[in-house]
Amino acid sequence: MREDFLPYGRQWLDDDDIDAVIEVLKSDYLTTGPAIDKFEEKLKEITGAKYAVALSNGTAALHGACFAAGIGKGDEVITSPMTFAATSNAVLYCGGKPVFADICPDTYNINPEDIKRKITDKTKAIIPVHYTGQPCDMDEIIKIAEEYNLFVIEDGAHALGASYKGRKIGTIGDMTTFSFHPVKPITTGEGGAVTTNNEDFYEKLMLFRSHGITRDKNKLLNDDAAWYYEQHVLGYNYRMTDIQAALGYSQLDKLDFFIEKRRKYAKMYDDAFRGFEGVVIPKQLDNSLSGWHIYVIQIDTDKIRPDKRVIFDELRIRNIGVNVHYIPVYYHPYYQKLGYKKGLCPQAERLYDRMLTLPLFPKMTKEDIMYVIRSVKELIESYRLR
Ligand SMILES: *Cc1c(COP(=O)(O)O)cnc(C)c1O
Repeated sequence: MREDFLPYGRQWLDDDDIDAVIEVLKSDYLTTGPAIDKFEEKLKEITGAKYAVALSNGTAALHGACFAAGIGKGDEVITSPMTFAATSNAVLYCGGKPVFADICPDTYNINPEDIKRKITDKTKAIIPVHYTGQPCDMDEIIKIAEEYNLFVIEDGAHALGASYKGRKIGTIGDMTTFSFHPVKPITTGEGGAVTTNNEDFYEKLMLFRSHGITRDKNKLLNDDAAWYYEQHVLGYNYRMTDIQAALGYSQLDKLDFFIEKRRKYAKMYDDAFRGFEGVVIPKQLDNSLSGWHIYVIQIDTDKIRPDKRVIFDELRIRNIGVNVHYIPVYYHPYYQKLGYKKGLCPQAERLYDRMLTLPLFPKMTKEDIMYVIRSVKELIESYRLR
């Protein structure tokens, strides 16, 4: 049994990342400086998007995207319940109503058929979440959005560097949001961004992240004295610091390498558990490349004795940081109080009952992966129904 705790995810930092941060600390600007522009330029390069806006975290990015899409009181926004609460919280921040569409039982991504069923005349946008880093069925989702005149905001928190039919995630919907929390594909400590090809959304996001204030002489409505600036909308202070942006810039150089490692380790899990009775591996579509943010297995509860709680606890005893991504959002007491009822999305609920997230991050070693595989196999074998 290993001595140290193996988390489900964590950052990878090298000396060049640390040097990049120190350089900013010694410079004139700790925030609103040149490191932000540099980071945004590189995000544009990597995603192929025309515009990128760095924000203080991924939740602020989602909030900004909902703001830019004009989500307001009474508007319905369709999203997946198999996500972190931040996705639908962003809709609530804007006064909108999250509507949950169920997931596909094999890819665990939002099911376009159920999106269609949940559309009403109040629906204004769809927020597909590229769960685990595998892109959603974007062709179908864009088709639905065009037919019903809806905005598409992709929650790409898991999917920086992933691609869908040869296109990098970041340009398919109207806007795409990213998170740079330490467990995510790259990190800035806390951080987030929105990418878009639409200038209007870009302008709105730039206002939104800094109090709704502009200093752009071409946009001022009144006086234009040298000191003068104007607030045009109700924005927030959602700015990223230059310290974070410099770290992000340095991390982006390693993104491909990180994903390569994640893919290699995911394949080791796949190979170990494919056909192994009691474990179901995640289906990958061959039209896309996942960013492999997390590796999720299902415990086949028809084939083994205890429920997954026992397996979870036993793996934790072995110092394996298994996790559960996610509790269906509407299970949370806050959402229950808003009136969402259990039973809303049966496939998401079934996945929740059966799923475990296994550790997966670039800094893991092959031995770490083998240890997880061995432990899971031993446990499942000992609990198998005969
Ligand atoms: C991490 C995450 C977020 C929130 O990002 P933060 O940077 O932590 O605010 C939103 N959606 C999903 C799917 C995430 O995984």
